[in-house]
Amino acid sequence: MFFNKNKKQKSKEVKRYLTLQRHVADSIITYAKTCHPNEGILILQGQTKKSNIIVDGLVVPPFASHGPYYSGFPTYDLPFDLSYIGTAHSHPGGSNRPSLEDLNNFYGFVSVIINYPYSESDIGAFDRNGNQVHVAII
Ligand SMILES: [Zn+2]
Repeated sequence: MFFNKNKKQKSKEVKRYLTLQRHVADSIITYAKTCHPNEGILILQGQTKKSNIIVDGLVVPPFASHGPYYSGFPTYDLPFDLSYIGTAHSHPGGSNRPSLEDLNNFYGFVSVIINYPYSESDIGAFDRNGNQVHVAII
Protein backbone atom coordinates (compact mmCIF):
# COMPACT_ATOMS: atom_id res chain seq x y z
CA MET A 1 0.00 0.00 0.00
CA PHE A 2 1.70 3.14 -1.11
CA PHE A 3 -0.18 5.45 1.25
CA ASN A 4 1.72 4.03 4.21
CA LYS A 5 3.00 7.03 6.16
CA ASN A 6 5.36 5.23 8.46
CA LYS A 7 7.52 3.55 5.89
CA LYS A 8 10.52 5.72 5.05
CA GLN A 9 11.29 5.61 1.35
CA LYS A 10 14.77 4.72 0.19
CA SER A 11 16.84 7.68 -1.02
CA LYS A 12 17.19 5.91 -4.39
CA GLU A 13 13.69 7.11 -5.26
CA VAL A 14 13.28 8.62 -8.72
CA LYS A 15 13.26 12.39 -8.83
CA ARG A 16 9.83 13.62 -9.83
CA TYR A 17 8.82 16.58 -11.92
CA LEU A 18 5.50 18.33 -11.77
CA THR A 19 3.87 19.87 -14.81
CA LEU A 20 0.95 22.22 -14.19
CA GLN A 21 -1.21 23.27 -17.07
CA ARG A 22 -1.56 27.04 -17.24
CA HIS A 23 -5.29 27.06 -16.44
CA VAL A 24 -4.61 24.86 -13.39
CA ALA A 25 -1.95 27.23 -12.07
CA ASP A 26 -4.29 30.18 -12.62
CA SER A 27 -7.12 28.41 -10.80
CA ILE A 28 -4.88 27.59 -7.82
CA ILE A 29 -3.84 31.26 -7.64
CA THR A 30 -7.44 32.47 -7.84
CA TYR A 31 -8.64 29.95 -5.24
CA ALA A 32 -5.83 30.88 -2.84
CA LYS A 33 -6.69 34.57 -3.16
CA THR A 34 -10.39 33.83 -2.59
CA CYS A 35 -9.68 31.88 0.60
CA HIS A 36 -7.20 34.41 2.00
CA PRO A 37 -6.56 35.01 4.93
CA ASN A 38 -7.57 31.37 5.42
CA GLU A 39 -5.95 28.37 3.81
CA GLY A 40 -7.64 26.77 0.85
CA ILE A 41 -7.20 23.22 -0.38
CA LEU A 42 -7.88 21.57 -3.73
CA ILE A 43 -7.44 18.09 -5.14
CA LEU A 44 -5.11 17.73 -8.12
CA GLN A 45 -6.34 15.61 -11.01
CA GLY A 46 -4.05 14.24 -13.65
CA GLN A 47 -1.68 11.43 -14.47
CA THR A 48 1.82 10.23 -13.77
CA LYS A 49 4.18 9.33 -16.60
CA LYS A 50 7.44 7.84 -15.38
CA SER A 51 8.90 10.59 -13.20
CA ASN A 52 6.63 13.32 -14.56
CA ILE A 53 3.39 14.24 -12.81
CA ILE A 54 1.01 16.09 -15.10
CA VAL A 55 -1.87 18.02 -13.56
CA ASP A 56 -4.71 18.89 -15.89
CA GLY A 57 -7.61 19.47 -13.52
CA LEU A 58 -8.71 20.51 -10.05
CA VAL A 59 -11.47 19.31 -7.74
CA VAL A 60 -12.83 21.23 -4.77
CA PRO A 61 -12.84 18.62 -2.00
CA PRO A 62 -16.10 17.81 -0.26
CA PHE A 63 -16.18 18.58 3.47
CA ALA A 64 -13.10 20.81 3.27
CA SER A 65 -12.47 22.81 6.39
CA HIS A 66 -10.79 26.17 6.22
CA GLY A 67 -8.78 27.79 8.95
CA PRO A 68 -5.97 30.28 9.33
CA TYR A 69 -3.48 27.56 10.31
CA TYR A 70 -4.58 24.37 8.68
CA SER A 71 -6.84 23.27 5.89
CA GLY A 72 -7.72 19.67 5.47
CA PHE A 73 -10.27 17.16 4.46
CA PRO A 74 -10.89 13.60 5.55
CA THR A 75 -9.27 11.58 2.77
CA TYR A 76 -11.26 8.48 3.73
CA ASP A 77 -14.40 10.28 2.56
CA LEU A 78 -13.05 10.73 -0.93
CA PRO A 79 -14.26 8.46 -3.69
CA PHE A 80 -11.56 6.12 -4.92
CA ASP A 81 -10.34 7.75 -8.07
CA LEU A 82 -7.03 7.01 -9.77
CA SER A 83 -6.98 10.44 -11.34
CA TYR A 84 -6.59 12.07 -7.89
CA ILE A 85 -2.84 12.46 -7.72
CA GLY A 86 -2.31 14.95 -4.91
CA THR A 87 -3.43 18.19 -3.33
CA ALA A 88 -2.75 21.89 -3.62
CA HIS A 89 -3.17 24.24 -0.69
CA SER A 90 -2.38 27.80 0.22
CA HIS A 91 -0.23 29.24 2.98
CA PRO A 92 -1.45 32.72 3.98
CA GLY A 93 2.04 33.26 5.42
CA GLY A 94 5.18 33.93 3.42
CA SER A 95 6.55 30.41 3.02
CA ASN A 96 5.61 27.58 0.70
CA ARG A 97 7.61 25.03 2.67
CA PRO A 98 5.56 22.08 3.96
CA SER A 99 4.67 22.05 7.65
CA LEU A 100 4.92 18.89 9.74
CA GLU A 101 1.13 18.75 9.58
CA ASP A 102 1.30 18.84 5.78
CA LEU A 103 3.69 15.88 5.71
CA ASN A 104 1.57 13.92 8.18
CA ASN A 105 -1.52 14.47 6.03
CA PHE A 106 0.13 13.71 2.71
CA TYR A 107 -2.22 12.45 0.03
CA GLY A 108 -1.23 11.03 -3.33
CA PHE A 109 2.09 11.64 -5.07
CA VAL A 110 2.65 15.34 -4.78
CA SER A 111 1.64 18.30 -2.67
CA VAL A 112 1.53 21.79 -4.12
CA ILE A 113 1.79 24.80 -1.82
CA ILE A 114 1.31 28.41 -2.77
CA ASN A 115 2.15 31.17 -0.32
CA TYR A 116 1.06 34.79 -0.05
CA PRO A 117 0.94 36.96 -2.24
CA TYR A 118 -0.01 34.05 -4.52
CA SER A 119 1.84 34.77 -7.71
CA GLU A 120 3.11 32.10 -10.08
CA SER A 121 6.58 32.21 -8.51
CA ASP A 122 5.04 31.48 -5.08
CA ILE A 123 4.04 27.98 -6.19
CA GLY A 124 6.12 25.16 -4.73
CA ALA A 125 5.75 21.40 -4.69
CA PHE A 126 7.12 18.56 -2.61
CA ASP A 127 6.91 14.81 -2.31
CA ARG A 128 5.87 12.75 0.72
CA ASN A 129 9.38 12.94 2.15
CA GLY A 130 9.33 16.74 2.05
CA ASN A 131 11.73 16.92 -0.90
CA GLN A 132 11.24 19.74 -3.34
CA VAL A 133 9.68 18.74 -6.66
CA HIS A 134 10.52 20.82 -9.72
CA VAL A 135 7.47 22.70 -11.04
CA ALA A 136 6.91 23.63 -14.68
CA ILE A 137 3.89 25.62 -15.85
CA ILE A 138 3.01 25.09 -19.50
ZN1 LIG B 1 0.45 23.67 4.70
